[in-house]
Amino acid sequence: MPHPTKYIFVTGGVVSSLGKGLAAASLGTLLELRGLSVILQKFDPYLNVDPGTMSPFQHGEVYVLDDGAETDLDLGHYERFTNCRLSKFNNLTSGQVFENVIRKERKGDYLGKTVQFIPHCTDEIKARINDVTLRSDADVIITEIGGTVGDIEGHLFLEALRQFSLEVGRDNVCFIHVTLLPLIKAAGEIKTKPTQQSVAKLREIGIQPDIIVCRTEHDLDDDNKKKIAMFCNVEAKNVVAFRDVDHTIYECPIDLRRDKLDRLVSDCLGLESKTPDLANWQTFVDRIINPTHEVKVAVVGKYIELQDAYKSIYESLTHAGASHDTRVVIQRVEAEAIEKDGAAAHLDGMNAILIPGGFGDRGTEGKILTAKYSRENNIPFFGICLGMQIATIEFARNVCGLENANSTEFDKNTPHPVISLQEEQQGVEDLGATMRLGASDSQVLAGTKAAELYGSDSISERHRHRYEFNPAYREQIEKAGLKISAVSDPEGLVEIVEIADHPFFIGAQFHPEFQSKPNAPHPIFSGFVAAALKS
Ligand code: GLN
Repeated sequence: MPHPTKYIFVTGGVVSSLGKGLAAASLGTLLELRGLSVILQKFDPYLNVDPGTMSPFQHGEVYVLDDGAETDLDLGHYERFTNCRLSKFNNLTSGQVFENVIRKERKGDYLGKTVQFIPHCTDEIKARINDVTLRSDADVIITEIGGTVGDIEGHLFLEALRQFSLEVGRDNVCFIHVTLLPLIKAAGEIKTKPTQQSVAKLREIGIQPDIIVCRTEHDLDDDNKKKIAMFCNVEAKNVVAFRDVDHTIYECPIDLRRDKLDRLVSDCLGLESKTPDLANWQTFVDRIINPTHEVKVAVVGKYIELQDAYKSIYESLTHAGASHDTRVVIQRVEAEAIEKDGAAAHLDGMNAILIPGGFGDRGTEGKILTAKYSRENNIPFFGICLGMQIATIEFARNVCGLENANSTEFDKNTPHPVISLQEEQQGVEDLGATMRLGASDSQVLAGTKAAELYGSDSISERHRHRYEFNPAYREQIEKAGLKISAVSDPEGLVEIVEIADHPFFIGAQFHPEFQSKPNAPHPIFSGFVAAALKS
């Protein structure tokens, strides 16, 4: 008889940025290797309906799913670390909870009752978990709760989980609490008190964690495990160390396997599963840590100082690098610095150059200089979304002689709007969820570099943009040598541009970085790294 769906809830304590998302994703990897099917999801206790309207300074990357949902970047880890394909149902925010509750109240769905946090908002959260259960046939649903236990914002979600665990039966639920064990250097001691106190906070709400995952810089000895176990009311074997990894986030599943997190979870949920075989994963990690070759790739962007703004791009470069036994050393370059110092000052000696997506005109002229530098100096170039638009503008200006060509995003009165607003975008006023979003099909034209890389004439890629290659300029630009190598099907919008007479020059209107995986690098990233190796 099939077992009921099992639930893992991952909460965080002590501080934020603990790597909860990576812990959840890594557990997903391990459970899949145990032969179980998993779905991951994230609950975010902020009031934005989705992170699509947040600046990268606030939130890092917005990760886009097949169905066009703009989600938290942890969903990127989930899709990269496991086989799950996620949808808009897998990222619930307080904004969505309240939006739904208020919409129902206005419709009169609550039949005259006073509408309250409990039960109406908590019901909304539980309904989402049930909905995700019905939509998937996964053995296990792993839910990460954003924020830190003790935050006012998160309380509602934790209360909903407490109720939910009673409703589905405590045997079907495993609560994992991820905490920090700080090391007080002067005393040479690991401190367990913050962990004790954050577990106490959870128990106040009525949640007793089953497993405690402790972020530590060093190993966790048995004495500390016993101490945490005693104060937190768990068995010592259920206190798991999650050490800082030395080289790459892909070491996390291997690290968590040391204390057998996956087996503890499997036992806790009464699941039958096999011992995981991490050999392939380990090979991938080894290739990242000890590669034979090395290339330097400049990423020229606007949010370059932010660790998380281009997360999926950096991950995709790592995947592609590993597949070529190559370390990709990323040189982050501020587009505005190029405006100030010129391209050569920052890009000399690079094996390849990438311009990522972006919004707004700060730094665009620096990016245009970057594209020119790559094109003229035969340096492998990859432009993604805005990067593709920039390459088109540069080509129009400097090869086609279209003076002051631009995107209407940056210059409404440009004489040559080679990038312009799509028809259906004209008149759009709301900024939330109104772009061209999500996966759509394109046709790759035979005889192009794109066709060679994909090895297929039909592709599906994810989008997040408003502006497009303006078809009115297509003929003129193509004649001058910027080839259009993929168009959307059936609309015929320009999806990939390339220069044939160049070692590697590709611009993609979509975001290939959302579909690259550890052992399955994206073909364009793979081709890009291969070209960097030759340059
Ligand atoms: N700002 C551009 C547009 O909206 C590019 C968006 C992006 O790079 N994601 O079309």
